[in-house]
Amino acid sequence: MPATAYDAAAFAEGLRRHGLVVPSGVRGVIGRSAVFEGVVTAFDAAVRRLARDDGAEEVHFPPTLPRALVERTGYMESFPQLAGAVHSFFGSELEARALCACIHAGEPWSDRLGMTDVMLTPAVCYPVYPTFAGTLPHEGRLATSLGWVFRHEPSDEPTRLQSFRMREYIRAGTPDQVVAWRNDWLERALGLLRALELPVRSDIANDPFFGKGGRMLAVNQREQQLKFEVLVPVISEEAPTAICSFNWHQDKFATVFGIHAADGAIANTACLGFGLERIAMALFQAHGFDPAQWPAAVRDVLWP
Ligand code: AMP
Ligand code: ZN
Repeated sequence: MPATAYDAAAFAEGLRRHGLVVPSGVRGVIGRSAVFEGVVTAFDAAVRRLARDDGAEEVHFPPTLPRALVERTGYMESFPQLAGAVHSFFGSELEARALCACIHAGEPWSDRLGMTDVMLTPAVCYPVYPTFAGTLPHEGRLATSLGWVFRHEPSDEPTRLQSFRMREYIRAGTPDQVVAWRNDWLERALGLLRALELPVRSDIANDPFFGKGGRMLAVNQREQQLKFEVLVPVISEEAPTAICSFNWHQDKFATVFGIHAADGAIANTACLGFGLERIAMALFQAHGFDPAQWPAAVRDVLWP
């Protein structure tokens, strides 16, 4: 039984009323209950069981990354509207007093801060690419990471967060290797999500590239089928929510970070990301706000 009639406000209210989500007062920044986290953890474990024999190297990063890395990848050209740069205070005691006076007077104070060397991680795969630098083995490389990402897209939609987690798998190799890997994973992910009785479908997609130039990039991305998403109705049946994405970057990251295939040619990379909060929310919408009442077949996949 769907939890709501695919209604954003009713779904947000349901999550809150059942204590699954704790609003923070800022749109898209939420706390989560133990039950919500239990679903996230169980789903992530199911993904990892699926990938067990792939031999992915596991790597963990904090939710910040070097600003230089973001600058080098061209993220600010493509997505300046989503980025989060960390600023801090570098001034004297006198300037600190002026800063606080500003804050207490309700005046803007950002011009009293300076840029630090770090930014908030925009996607879990970003800090992984530099670790692939050099010449890859014949079979290429595969890594996995779970982490927090930031996207400046404040919204009242309960599924659109500013801080959320992704489980990503990141592949580097020849173009044939990474495309075959991505296409296999799309089918694998659909299989897992269907076993969880989610009404999913996949579709060609594009990233929200900034500005007029960005429209061209989005058209090109679709024409070349560089991005697929798995979609499921959560807050709307007409506009289903993307719960995971499958991206082929061609040689974009490999060129920036000097990643070469075994034959010396510039490598290709691909990544896939499961949006963990969105998947938990899709499960709550599909099966109700109490996981103890979910269908036995679904519970068996999550809690074997
Ligand atoms: P992307 O890197 O944009 O393809 O995002 C990877 C996955 O993260 C998507 O398939 C979503 O499941 C999830 N995601 C993206 N943006 C958001 C957001 N604003 N709030 C929650 N989840 C998101
Ligand atoms: Zn990625």
